[in-house]
Amino acid sequence: MIQWSEQHLMMQGAVRRFIQDEIVPHIDEFEHGDTPPYEVLRKMFRSFGIDEIARERFRKQIAAEKRAAAGEPAVTIREPKKEGSEAAADALAMQLIPIIELCHYCPGMVTALGVSVGLTSAAILSKGTTAQKERWALDLMTLDKIGAWAITEPGSGSDPFGAMKSTARRDGDGYVLNGNKTFITNGPYADTIVFICRLDEGNPPAERKVLTFVLDRGMPGFEQSRPVRKMGMHSSPTGDLFLSDVRVGKEHLLGETEAVTSRAGTKDTFSSERTGVSAMALGIVEQCLRTCVEYARTRIAFGRPIGEFQLIQLKLAKMEVARMNLQNLVFRQIELAASGVKPTFAEASAVKLYSAQTAMEVCLEAVQLHGGNGYTAEYRVEQLCRDAKVLQIYGGTDEIQISQIARSLLSN
Ligand SMILES: Cc1cc2nc3c(=O)[nH]c(=O)nc-3n(C[C@H](O)[C@H](O)[C@H](O)COP(=O)(O)OP(=O)(O)OC[C@H]3O[C@@H](n4cnc5c(N)ncnc54)[C@H](O)[C@@H]3O)c2cc1C
Repeated sequence: MIQWSEQHLMMQGAVRRFIQDEIVPHIDEFEHGDTPPYEVLRKMFRSFGIDEIARERFRKQIAAEKRAAAGEPAVTIREPKKEGSEAAADALAMQLIPIIELCHYCPGMVTALGVSVGLTSAAILSKGTTAQKERWALDLMTLDKIGAWAITEPGSGSDPFGAMKSTARRDGDGYVLNGNKTFITNGPYADTIVFICRLDEGNPPAERKVLTFVLDRGMPGFEQSRPVRKMGMHSSPTGDLFLSDVRVGKEHLLGETEAVTSRAGTKDTFSSERTGVSAMALGIVEQCLRTCVEYARTRIAFGRPIGEFQLIQLKLAKMEVARMNLQNLVFRQIELAASGVKPTFAEASAVKLYSAQTAMEVCLEAVQLHGGNGYTAEYRVEQLCRDAKVLQIYGGTDEIQISQIARSLLSN
């Protein structure tokens, strides 16, 4: 893939108009007024029929699962193959375009959306039983409900399993859950929470199985904090979760069996999260570049537009190179979807590392290019700069990506 198709550009134009009408006029409310992003994201889903597409896809998947469970032969549906086809590539492109466009203004909204749809519902869809998918996944896919995906704890982030303290203990037919989770995107507002913990059978912590449970807002013993104050991504609420003797039935255990390998599932989740960061970085860089070019043309210093100074030109040229590289990474992902090839974990880490660092470098230069104006909120490059920083932290820090890439190189 070397450029967006006509159909992609139409989608891009429509999303841009939606953002200009529905988000840009209220941006301060989202970024400074603690207005949660969910209503406007729901409106976006409905405006573009994304919820209907999700319902249709879900209905077909569940029908196929039920037929398979009943031992009936699979029905051949005359539609494009799901994986490894042009249709899969197009579906991915149509998901990435809104991410890129939203990141021009509110990368936080993409974080909130990505965690609810990309992580929480995806976790349930990949490892849940059919009943669990029907109970929780569809509402998350359509944004009727908001999801959170909780692995990080106050004492374990980069090494999520190493020092994990959250536990499940068997209790009759079900389990009793305890633990604290921190920095959880959508934590304060989530209706459905994927909670990752260790099964305490009285054995040493390092030997305990990792299990995943699905929790509902309001369960006795389960508390969700208010949003915490943070540096950026203000349109993505982040909070803590507290579980104190939360009793759940087996139907809350993902897959309804202790045999489900939660560690492998978590790795898949990290992998898809990491490749999504390139689209976020592309949106941030595109916006910085656009704002900078405009400013370089119009800002006068020493009697000339600053764009005539070579040091400013160097900044613009480097931003353009960054934009091209990020766009190529995004296009490569779409190509991979077309050929049905999944990037390796190390490749996903490399994509995330490069994308996050590039977004941060470009944002810092964009602030510099705007001088004093760059440091104020008016030109919004300071907001993008604060937002971009977390790309180097969540979903695995830069340092963790580096060690994962190196480990893969050295083990070959
Ligand atoms: C806005 C935001 C949203 C988030 N959303 C979620 C969410 O929805 N769900 C969730 O579960 N988590 C979430 N997180 C948590 C995030 O994934 C963790 O913060 C991240 O993985 C880093 O963990 P930590 O904060 O504990 O840092 P630490 O692990 O304490 O790391 C501290 C420093 O040490 C470095 N370090 C650690 N180990 C090594 C090593 N082996 N080699 C070299 N350096 C090392 C790190 O790179 C970092 O610089 C979110 C975080 C933020 C800030």
